[in-house]
Amino acid sequence: MKRDLSDKLFQAAKKTIPGGVNSPVRAFKNVDGEPFFVRRAKGCKIEDVDGNQMIDYVGTWGPAILGHAPECVLEAVASAAKDGVSFGIPNPYEVEMAGLIVDWVPSVEKVRMVNSGTEATMSAVRLARGYTGRNKVVKFEGCYHGHVDSLLVAAGSGALTHGEPDSAGVPSAFAAETIILPYNDLEKVRAVFSEMGDQIAAVIVESYPANAGLIFPKEGYLQGLRDVTAQYGSVFIFDEVMTGFRVARGGVQELEGITPDLTAMGKVIGGGLPVGAFGGKAEIMNYLAPDGPVYQAGTLSGNPLAMAAGLAQLREMDRLGGYCMLEKMGARLEVGVREILAAKGLEYQFNRVGSMFCLFFTNEEIVNLDSVMTADTVVFRKFFTAMLEQGVYMAPSPYETGFISVAHGDSEIDTTLEAVDAALVKI
Ligand SMILES: *Cc1c(COP(=O)(O)O)cnc(C)c1O
Repeated sequence: MKRDLSDKLFQAAKKTIPGGVNSPVRAFKNVDGEPFFVRRAKGCKIEDVDGNQMIDYVGTWGPAILGHAPECVLEAVASAAKDGVSFGIPNPYEVEMAGLIVDWVPSVEKVRMVNSGTEATMSAVRLARGYTGRNKVVKFEGCYHGHVDSLLVAAGSGALTHGEPDSAGVPSAFAAETIILPYNDLEKVRAVFSEMGDQIAAVIVESYPANAGLIFPKEGYLQGLRDVTAQYGSVFIFDEVMTGFRVARGGVQELEGITPDLTAMGKVIGGGLPVGAFGGKAEIMNYLAPDGPVYQAGTLSGNPLAMAAGLAQLREMDRLGGYCMLEKMGARLEVGVREILAAKGLEYQFNRVGSMFCLFFTNEEIVNLDSVMTADTVVFRKFFTAMLEQGVYMAPSPYETGFISVAHGDSEIDTTLEAVDAALVKI
């Protein structure tokens, strides 16, 4: 594939943008490559500035559940924009959006809009601390909750050192308030609570961890977390930024029948515009300013364009029966991938729920970050490159989940499977 214009743009970008990118996952460092620049995206395809077209399984890292640039979202944004792009004064869309979230997400009684998933988890943790008057937060290895100081510990594939921040610039005193435990090990959680349960403000967990590949909870694990937090009066925070409105209307909490105290949301909810939200029990949410003592604010929060885009996307999913369509496409991909693996005698792990999937280049069962880290990164790199050469764009890291959109049809899935078959020959 010719990438001359992308290469030129990347050289220019590196002069004025750190690393040439506005988010490090875009830098292709995990695959020893350089990013391409997108000119346009429509449906399940993206086109780079050199005119190469690719079937896209990144979907802007999750939000594009209807595919790129769906007409309903374009129309909603254009129509909202005619009346003004931001007010900083309440607008009707915010009330509609809150109503929809409360209606769809089982545990949410009140909700506040923010501008990103990071803001959602950051605010939820602050609220949990304000509500309980406690400082410590439990998180799990491999769970990513955005780049919040105290949560940027053992967050995904970064080097793991107990209680040490993954990033320079995070005071270790902040990280010291974070207790990191392995995922899927309930005994360790119970042990920490019996030792210091009265100091723990919250347990935060990715409902299905999807930032270290895609990991599923063992039977009873999430309910176990729910029970132990309830017993000690800690706030149970579900990070559904990735899974919310993606695996089902009501996210993992709907699928698994779990009732968290607070939920962080983002990605799909914004229809591709910068949106996040956090909500939950009214009793806890009432601790937020202006009614309560926990301060949280945002100049652009509840922005009319963002609300209109999100509402249009969510309603269209509902109208189409989108979650059923995604399950069908996801199953088609899964069956195909499993057939290819079996035919080649490969015992790689393939995890999927609805439209989210991850192929792990390891024979070990995936239960936590340690098992994810057994995946062969060299093989991944070859696979990624071979797929891209055939016009299929997967996330440029072995620790990312792939996303199918409603715009992916049978023919694109089949093309993808042919590419997988060929790519696995080459490695
Ligand atoms: C993407 C993500 C975030 C952070 O959201 P941003 O909008 O990138 O700040 C937080 N939690 C989870 C589970 C995510 O997948």
